[in-house]
Amino acid sequence: MFQAARIKLTFWYLLICVMISFVFSLAIFTILQRDLQLNEIRFEQRFASMQDIDPDFYIHLQLHRQDVHATEDELLTKLIYINLFILGAASVAGYFLAGRTLKPIKMMVEKQNLFIADASHELRTPLTALKTAIEVNLRNSKLDIKKARLVLKENLKDVDRLKNLSDNLLSLAKLQANTGYLKEPVSLKQTLENAVNNVSFLAKQKKISIEKNLHDVTVEGNKDRLIELFIIFLDNAIKYSHANSSITIETLVQNSSIETIINDHGIGIHEKDIPHIFERFYRADSSRSHTSNEGYGLGLAIAKEIVDAHKGTVSVESKQSRGTSFRILLPIKR
Ligand code: ADP
Repeated sequence: MFQAARIKLTFWYLLICVMISFVFSLAIFTILQRDLQLNEIRFEQRFASMQDIDPDFYIHLQLHRQDVHATEDELLTKLIYINLFILGAASVAGYFLAGRTLKPIKMMVEKQNLFIADASHELRTPLTALKTAIEVNLRNSKLDIKKARLVLKENLKDVDRLKNLSDNLLSLAKLQANTGYLKEPVSLKQTLENAVNNVSFLAKQKKISIEKNLHDVTVEGNKDRLIELFIIFLDNAIKYSHANSSITIETLVQNSSIETIINDHGIGIHEKDIPHIFERFYRADSSRSHTSNEGYGLGLAIAKEIVDAHKGTVSVESKQSRGTSFRILLPIKR
């Protein structure tokens, strides 16, 4: 598909080059031909008076006319060669440029295809499990109302997880499509407090305390997306922390940026997993990180997209069984 598009684009580049070169050559040829003709007329006028004195006048005139025609022919040949050279060079350059023009589109399509393949794979597994559970229970003639309620409860949990997955997929797709969203001055302190409020019930469930040390600094961005960003890190910090532990959030002002550090004392991340945790659908060793509300490995991929969209950076430091620190650097609005 891309090869055909590349050849088509090369053809269009070539057509533009050839047309420009042809028009340019035609203009040069016409101008020079007119100059030569004017020259010939001037020559004839200047030496008209000599025709009585010079017996060879007509021979000179003839020779002069032959020179003019030879010059015209030479010019035409040179222009044809130049045009042929431009045609050759434009074909090679056009093919190269078409490749470069299409490269980002090709990469985007490949990325999208991979995304669709990953997403359908992730959706298929829980859907198949849900379908099997429903079918098995439907075939069970001894299924009483109590058991049926239990099954429906489990089904509802699966449906919730699927809804969560589709919401996350949609969020990621929107971010990757780069559908520009409104950016406004946002108070980082308020945003972080908002995110903490959102996860406080989860922290309470595990008796985890969240300590804050925040500066009141304004960044430029999308408030809802920034809240979503910090919820992802806080949600993970709670999810991968032991009960009765603590999480700290602090901000550090650095020249024109502000760094937010979210630190937990949880299970930590294995060294081999660290380079991959921001990849879509990547989950570290499930036996180690298994929790009751295990995610789909989309949270950090979404977080990275949000940080990128805000021209920020994110980094992680982690030690297994000691805890994890995520550092999010965002530019300050001046
Ligand atoms: P998930 O929905 O599985 O949490 P994420 O994209 O949010 O997906 O995280 C990817 C992986 O990174 C997780 O599966 C987990 O192994 C690891 N991880 C992320 N945050 C933490 C943390 N605070 N402590 C330990 N591991 C973490």
